[in-house]
Amino acid sequence: MIRRVTYTVAVLVLLALVGSVAYRLAPVQDFLMKRGALLVFGGTAETFDGLQAVVCGSASPLGNNPDRAQACIAIVTPEHFFLVDVGARAPMRINQAQLPLNRMTGVMLTHFHSDHIAGLADVNLGSWVGGRQESLNVYGPEGVATVVDGFNTAYRLDRGYRIAHHGVELLPPAAGPMTAQTFEPGIVWQDDTMTVTSFLVDHHPIHPAVGYRFDYLGRSVVVSGDTNASDNLFAAAENADIVFHDALARRALDIMRGSMAEAGRPRIAQIVTDVIDYHADSLTLEDAANAAGVKQLVLYHLVPTPMNDLTEDMFMRGLSGTTILAHDLQTFSLPPNSEEIIIR
Ligand SMILES: [Zn+2]
Ligand SMILES: [Zn+2]
Repeated sequence: MIRRVTYTVAVLVLLALVGSVAYRLAPVQDFLMKRGALLVFGGTAETFDGLQAVVCGSASPLGNNPDRAQACIAIVTPEHFFLVDVGARAPMRINQAQLPLNRMTGVMLTHFHSDHIAGLADVNLGSWVGGRQESLNVYGPEGVATVVDGFNTAYRLDRGYRIAHHGVELLPPAAGPMTAQTFEPGIVWQDDTMTVTSFLVDHHPIHPAVGYRFDYLGRSVVVSGDTNASDNLFAAAENADIVFHDALARRALDIMRGSMAEAGRPRIAQIVTDVIDYHADSLTLEDAANAAGVKQLVLYHLVPTPMNDLTEDMFMRGLSGTTILAHDLQTFSLPPNSEEIIIR
């Protein structure tokens, strides 16, 4: 028995040695590089015949966790690809999820805090390089033109360099700058199968701030953006399959700001205190969602951004167990005209 164990260990050590030497040989590296590149460039996300929502960012600006990008929810069907907000690090998640950047329908902004718009330029560039032939439409309430004009100006030289380098065939110049589409709340986008409706939410003193509802073949997804628990939102979310809602863990925040004050950091403690009144305390959402007939409540834009299992647990404290705490790259698939919600 002892001899057999010794023999097995020796073989494993030998294999590890051979592997570590081989890994540094040029032909082996070239082979592995080719396999990896084929996986990255040859891969496409599976096409799902229904409505999908993908979490491309679940964080708030409070707390740095590289495993969570800032606010971003992707809405994907075989014919549509919308992004609701695109915060910092969200473009990386969009690429990891292999979302169809080459056929983007548009970006829907909920409001213009930096953590909702910081990734806009990367998504515009990525979809242009990916093959988008027309200008990317960016939808939002009053103020969206200021944001879009600013990004277009800041990236004007970059667009010129890329067109000069790659040519107008590969990068059609008219598709380079984004186009702002300012709307009043109501139906903001529609075709035969999809209706996108926006509604005002309560992110006071930030105004306007909106949320969105997507209806596609009998299925529906609502995205709150930043807001307190709002009657307007839950009226718009009536019988929705999924509501992605901004959420704040009050107990965790209270401990954080107490520790900041104790540690002699009054400025950051004040900022954390200011944040409390314009996001939804997680404990205020379940009853409202149940009363509206919402089938699945998902918390995202998490304030503070959970850093580990402990802070995730604190977020769920006092909740019923049916509510889901979003993680980046989580995908919710809704088959047409059905009740099923497939989560992975
Ligand atoms: Zn905000
Ligand atoms: Zn925010």
